[in-house]
Amino acid sequence: MSRRRVAVLGAGIMGSAVAIELARRGFEVTLIDREAAPVAATSRWNEGKIHLGYLYGADPTTATARHILPGSLRFAELARELIAADLDGHTTTEDDIYLLHRDSVVGPDVMRARFDAISELVRRHPDAGRYLVDVSDARVTELSAAELDSLAGADIVAGFRVPERSMDTRWFADRLAGAVASEPGVSLQLETTVTGAEPRDGDDGRWRVRAGNGFDEDFDIVVNALWGGRLPVDVTAGLTPRPPWSHRFRLCVFLRTRTEHEHPSALVAVGPFGDVKNYNGRDFYLSWYPVGLVAESAGLELDAPAMPTGRDAEAFTGRVRAALEAVMPGIGRLFDDAESATVHGGVVFARGGGTLDDPHSELHRRDRYGVERRGTYYSVDTGKYSTAPWSARFLAAEIAG
Ligand SMILES: Cc1cc2nc3c(=O)[nH]c(=O)nc-3n(C[C@H](O)[C@H](O)[C@H](O)COP(=O)(O)OP(=O)(O)OC[C@H]3O[C@@H](n4cnc5c(N)ncnc54)[C@H](O)[C@@H]3O)c2cc1C
Repeated sequence: MSRRRVAVLGAGIMGSAVAIELARRGFEVTLIDREAAPVAATSRWNEGKIHLGYLYGADPTTATARHILPGSLRFAELARELIAADLDGHTTTEDDIYLLHRDSVVGPDVMRARFDAISELVRRHPDAGRYLVDVSDARVTELSAAELDSLAGADIVAGFRVPERSMDTRWFADRLAGAVASEPGVSLQLETTVTGAEPRDGDDGRWRVRAGNGFDEDFDIVVNALWGGRLPVDVTAGLTPRPPWSHRFRLCVFLRTRTEHEHPSALVAVGPFGDVKNYNGRDFYLSWYPVGLVAESAGLELDAPAMPTGRDAEAFTGRVRAALEAVMPGIGRLFDDAESATVHGGVVFARGGGTLDDPHSELHRRDRYGVERRGTYYSVDTGKYSTAPWSARFLAAEIAG
C-alpha cells in the first residue's frame, strides 16, 4: 500500500513538529510555508516562556493553568526529541520575577492566592519533574522590600519569584528548521502562500490544496497550522470560525549586549505592560505591550506590518526602553551596552476580544485552544508556543490512529 500523503500548512513550531512526528510514523509529508525558510515567523520571534499558568493570574478559574500545564511540563523532553539535541545553555536558568503594577487588573492579595493555587496545581501534576527544571516542589516567594527597591520603580507594588523558565526561540528555530529539512519523509514547499483546501471526494477522502504560485495538489490528509493565516483557509475547507477572536501583531526588541549582565528576567503584570528576558547574560528579549502592539483585527486575517529597520527600529527601541526604565530603572544598562538590537515580532491569535486593561477580557484566559476537524482536514489553534510540541505529538498519534 502506498504511504499516505499529508499536507502540513505552515512551518512554525506547530507545523514543523507535526510534520516531523508524522514522518516518523511513516507518512509522506509536504510542509508548506510562504516564507523562504521554516520557523521564520512568530515561532522564531517570541519570548519563549514555557508557561505554567502564572501569567494568566487574572483567570479566576485557573482553567488556563490546567489547560497549559500538561504540554508545558513536557516541552523540554518533546523539544529535545524533535531536534535530537539538548536544550542546555539555551533556556533561562533563574526563576522569573513577576512585578505587580499598581494598575494591574488584579491586586496583590488576589495575586498571592492565585499564584498559590497555580503552584499547587503544578506540584500535584504527575509530570512536574519533567519541566525545564524539576517543579515538583513549585512555590512562589514574595520579594522583600529591599529586593523590590533594587529592581523596580514606584509603580510596582509587589514582586514574586515564580518557577518559570523560557526557551531562546531563535536558537530553537534554527535547530527545528534544520531538523525538519533533514527529516526523511518531509518535503519542504517554501515560498508558497496557501489559498485554499477543498474536499475532492467527501470529507474523509482526498483534499486539494491550492496556493498562490500555482501549487495545486491532492493529499489524503491536511493539517492547517497557519496560525495567523489559518482562518481564511479553514473557511475554504468548510470550517466556519466561531467569533469572537482577535489577531494582534506585537513587535519586540531582541537585544545582544557586548558584555554579560545579571539583570533578572522580569515581567510586569497583570495587564498591558512589558517584560525583559535574560536568556544567557547577553541575549535579551524586551517588550512594552502598548508600544509593541502595532496592529490588531477581529477579521479573518491580519496584514503583517513591515518590520521597522534603521531609524524606525531605533525609535521603536527607544520607546520600549523609556517605558521599561519607568518600571525597572536599571534596565538602561542593557541598552547602553547593546552590540545589536533587532526589532521583530509576530501574531498573537486568541479566542475572545477586549483589551488587557479590562479584568473581564477573555484575553486573560487561554484555555480554549486545540484542534478542530472536518473528516481528514485538521485545523490547529496552537494557542501557546510552550504546548506546541505536546499538541503536535497528540495530533500525529490521532492521525496515525
Ligand atoms: C511577541 C510575542 C510573544 C509571545 N510569547 C510567548 C511566550 O512567551 N510563550 C508562549 O508559549 N507563546 C508565546 N507567544 C505565542 C507563540 O509565539 C505562538 O503561539 C506560536 O509561536 C505559534 O506557533 P505556530 O507554529 O502556530 O505559528 P507560526 O510560527 O506563525 O507558524 C505559522 C506559519 O504559517 C505561515 N503562513 C501563514 N499563513 C500562510 C499562508 N496563507 N500560506 C503559507 N504559509 C502561511 C507563516 O509564514 C508561519 O511560518 C508569543 C507571541 C508573540 C507575538
